[in-house]
This record gives sequence, C-alpha cells and structure tokens, in this order.
Amino acid sequence: MSDGNRPTVMVTGGAGYIGSHAVLALADAGWRVVVVDNLVTGFRWAVDPRASFVEGAIEDAALIGRVIAEHDVGAILHFAGSVVVPESVVDPLKYYRNNTVATRSLLESAVIGGVRHFIFSSTAATYGIPETVPIREDAPKAPINPYGASKLMTEWMLADVAAAHPINYGALRYFNVAGADPAGRSGQSTAGATHLIKVAAEAVTGVRDHVAIFGNDYNTLDGTGVRDYIHVSDLADAHVHALEALIANPGDNLTLNCGYGRGYSVIEVLDAVDRVTNRPIERRLLPRRAGDPDALVADNSAILARLPWRPKRADLDLIVTDALRWQQHLVERDAQA
Ligand code: UDP
Repeated sequence: MSDGNRPTVMVTGGAGYIGSHAVLALADAGWRVVVVDNLVTGFRWAVDPRASFVEGAIEDAALIGRVIAEHDVGAILHFAGSVVVPESVVDPLKYYRNNTVATRSLLESAVIGGVRHFIFSSTAATYGIPETVPIREDAPKAPINPYGASKLMTEWMLADVAAAHPINYGALRYFNVAGADPAGRSGQSTAGATHLIKVAAEAVTGVRDHVAIFGNDYNTLDGTGVRDYIHVSDLADAHVHALEALIANPGDNLTLNCGYGRGYSVIEVLDAVDRVTNRPIERRLLPRRAGDPDALVADNSAILARLPWRPKRADLDLIVTDALRWQQHLVERDAQA
C-alpha cells in the first residue's frame, strides 16, 4: 500500500456523473486515485487530472488485475453500470450483464488481487414500493424493475464475498442524486436526461420547452411524487467517509441509505427552480409514469450514526442552483463547439 495505510483507490465509472464527483472528493481529501471507465456513457474530460485514467471494461479481468497490481490498489469504489430504469424494463439482460455479471467479475478480480475494501453504488430502487416512509435499511427489498433487482443481486454477492474472503464492503443506497460540483468542475452531462432536476435545468436553458409533471393524483400532500434529493457532492463525501470507516474497521460492512431524510414533491422542485431563476418554466400535466412510487424518502439515521458524514448542501435551492450553473456551462460549451 502507498502512503502508509492509505491505499490507492480504484474508481470504476469515474468518468460518469457520480463517479467523477467521487474522484474530486477523494483527490481533494488527498487520496491517490486510478479511474477505470469504458467511456460508453462517461467522458474523459470529466476525470479530474489528479487521477490516473485507464480506459477499459471492469469485466476485463486481465486488465483489472494489471491495474490492481501496478497501482497497488487497496480499495475499489464501484460506480460503473447502467442506470436508466425504463431502459432496464425493455432490456433487462443489459442490466444483469452490466450491473450484476460485470460486478461479479470485478469482485473476483478484487479478491484475487487482494483488495481489502469495496464500495458499491446501490440504490433506493432495491426497496421497490416501500410499505412505510421514511425507509430504513432493514425495510423489505422488493425491487419493481430490473435496475433495482440487478443492484440488489450485487448486494447479495457482496455479503457472501465479504463473509468468505478478507474484504469488507459498503453498499450505499442512493436516493435521488442531483446538483453539480459547487466549484463547477463536473456535473450531470449525459444526453437524454430523464431525471426531474436535470430536465428542469434543460427547460431553463432552452434545451427543451417545458417540463412534464407525471401525475398529480399520488398519495402525497399536493398529489405529485415525493423524492429525497441529495446533492451529488454530499453523496461523494459520503463515499470518502465510508472508505475511511471500512479501512478503520476491517471486520465491519456498511449498508447505508444516502439521503437527507426530507422529501420534496415535483411541484416543490419546480417551484424551487422558478424561485432560483425568477422566471417560471412551462409545466404540463401528463399521466403517471409506470412504476413510480408515491414517495421515496430515506431514513438516514444509520449513516449519521455510523459515519462522521454531515450534509453540507442539504438545501433544495442550492441543489437547483448548482444544477443550473452546470447546465449553463454545458450550453455555453456546446455553443462554442
Ligand atoms: N418527474 C416528473 N417529470 C419529469 C421527470 C420526473 O414529474 O420530467 C417526477 C417522477 O414521476 C418522480 C420524480 O419526478 O415522481 C422524480 O423522478 P426522477 O426521474 O427524477 O427520479 P426517480 O425517482 O424516478 O429515480
């Protein structure tokens, strides 16, 4: 291991939205980082220059074995995968390949290479439609789409692998991730956005002319869907804290919700966007989207108890402001191209 007890950290998917913010958080905290990304949905420019970069697939065992050995990798933060829920419904085998099978291979490479710590991007989609909100980690896991199932299967693999081999893991179950690096170094850049705050940011910058509200007859205060939006930089920080905890307590694993424990409706989110820009965007009421639960809000008492992590940007207007700043940057960049 390099730097005393500080191993080099491999970040898979480090050219993607959340992974690139994790690289920033790690590098800002002084960690040595090597990114592995196949650049199918990620961007080379999104990888912080302080990190090494290897273009390749996580299921390429020869490549991953080489990277682990050459960079003296002691921990893996695994973000690479497919993330579009509706796509997982029409192409489930892509999700079981990219999220489950590929992770099996990466885990095997980790075990063979002697990697001691593994942090996995899991999701609130593992809960499906919750019986009670806020959701605790021990709530029933009943995913309602292949995306959630593909991630839950990986959680099962992690538990079995950690019981059998000298490796511990963190499974971080993300709620709704939004916003962008406050310093403007990265943000959500993938084309074909479907997530509410990104879609709203595109409407503000004229990339689209309206925002759809998918249903207003949900069992919530104003009838629109309620979600727990977490700022991507706070989420990235949670990974750094989880890594430190796994290193400090090699016998312990962590399965933690990542959210603020506060829900906002679609209308509240759109009101925040209008407030921040001082200019209303057009809203159109559409039918419900298939498979959308009424409300998904994290019970985050476990992460607050287990890690010294404390949210720094738990404010909807801040999340929206950072998302808009990044969207503006993308529009200006594309105008110059
Ligand atoms: N939503 C919406 N219009 C959009 C995108 C999303 O009304 O253009 C709603 C969606 O029905 C859900 C909430 O916003 O209630 C968050 O959806 P998103 O796709 O951002 O994340 P999800 O919770 O589905 O992962």
